[in-house]
Amino acid sequence: MTWQDDAGRDLVKSFGDRMAMFVRGEGAYVWDADGKRYLDFLAGIAVNSLGHAHPVFVNAIATQAATLSHVSNYFATPPQLELAAQLKRLAGTGESGRVYFGNSGAEANEAAFKLARLHGAATESSAGRPRILALTDAFHGRTMGTLALTGKPYMQQPFLPMTPGVEFIDSTIEALEAAIDDRVAALFVEPVKGEAGVIDLPEGYLEAAREITRRHGVLLIIDEIQTGAGRTGEWFAFQHAGITPDAITVAKGIGGGFPIGALITFGEASELFYPGTHGSTFGGNALGTAVAGAVLGEIERADLVRNAAERGDQLRAAILGIGSPLISGCRGRGLLIGIALAHPVAKAVVAAAQVHGLIINAPNDDTIRLVPALTIGDVEIDEFIALFTASLHTVADALLLDEHSSTPTTEVPA
Ligand SMILES: *Cc1c(COP(=O)(O)O)cnc(C)c1O
Repeated sequence: MTWQDDAGRDLVKSFGDRMAMFVRGEGAYVWDADGKRYLDFLAGIAVNSLGHAHPVFVNAIATQAATLSHVSNYFATPPQLELAAQLKRLAGTGESGRVYFGNSGAEANEAAFKLARLHGAATESSAGRPRILALTDAFHGRTMGTLALTGKPYMQQPFLPMTPGVEFIDSTIEALEAAIDDRVAALFVEPVKGEAGVIDLPEGYLEAAREITRRHGVLLIIDEIQTGAGRTGEWFAFQHAGITPDAITVAKGIGGGFPIGALITFGEASELFYPGTHGSTFGGNALGTAVAGAVLGEIERADLVRNAAERGDQLRAAILGIGSPLISGCRGRGLLIGIALAHPVAKAVVAAAQVHGLIINAPNDDTIRLVPALTIGDVEIDEFIALFTASLHTVADALLLDEHSSTPTTEVPA
C-alpha cells in the first residue's frame, strides 16, 4: 500500500489527489517521504509567514501548551488580550476597535457577515438594509455563509439555495455607484483577489469605495485573509490606500501555521455585536492567540513587512528578467505574486516545478501564484529563479514537441 492508496481510500473526496506527501519542513524548504527537498513558494497558501518550524513559532506553542491552552470564552487569558491589543494597533483601529476570534478565514468572514446583518437589521424607525454587495470572482470561504459571499457560480451551484441578500458586482467604481443605495448593509472587498488569480483592484478603488459606502451608511468590510499579516508590504493591504474601513477579516498568515482567524472592527461597527449574538468554543483560546501573538511579534521585530515589499519587487524584476516567452506579466503586491502566462499551461508548470523540487500553485489555467514565507532572502530568490526557469523550459519543450507531433497535450512527462 502506498500513501496515495491510503489518501484515496480514507480522505474526503472534496479535494483532488494530493500532489506529494511531506514529512518535514525548515525555513523555506519541505521534504517528502523519500527525502527529496523542495523550495516552498506556496507556504501552505500564504500561511507559513515565518517559514517552517521557525523557533519563535515552535517555542510559542511549546511554552503556551505547557502553561494554559484552553479555558473557553467564559474566561479571559493574557495571550488573548495581548493579541487583541496587538491587532488593533497594527490595523490602526484606535481605542474604539474590537476583535472577535475564530479559527479560520471562513469563520472570520462568517462573523463579518453577521456584523453586516446586525448593521442592516430593521428597526421600528428604519426598514433596514437587506442587501449585501460583494465582488464578482472574489473568494471569501467555503462555509454556507461565506460561499454566499463568494462570487463564483460554479462553487455555489451544487449547494443552492444560498443565504439570501448577496448581490455580485464588477470591481469597478461605476458598478458600485450603480448598485449602492441606502438598503445596502455592507460591501465586501478582497483587496487583491488571490484565489481568482492574484487580480489587483483598479487604481483608486478602495479610496472611492470608502467615500461611496460612507455616503450611504454602508459598512466597508475588507477581507485581508490572504493579504494581511504583512504579505503585500503593509500590515494590511487597505493601508496602501490610506483609508479606514469598518471591519477587516484576517486568518492565514497571522497564525504562521496555527489555525486562527479574526474579525477586527473599527469605530461604530465595534458596537454592533451584543451578548449572545456570536461565539466559538475554540475561538481565541490561549494557545492559538499566544502563537499568533508571537508570529506577529517576530514579523514586527525582524521587519518582515518591509522585507515582503522589497523581496516582492526583487522577485518581480527577476521573474520578468527570465525573459521567457511563456511569461506575459506579473500581478499582485509584495510577496503576493501572480505570474501571468501567455498560454494556459499553469498546471503543467506546477507539475514540472514539483519534479524540479519547487512548490508553487496555479489558481487558474494561466496564472502561477507565489506566496512564499515573508522571511525569504537572496538565496531563496536565486534558487527560485533557477528552478522556475528550468520548469518553464520543461513545459516549453513539451509545447514545442506538441507542435511537431501535433499531439494536443501539454502534459509534462513524469
Ligand atoms: C483563504 C481565504 C479565505 C478562507 O479562509 P479559510 O481559512 O480557508 O476558511 C477567505 N478569504 C480569502 C481572501 C482567502 O484567501
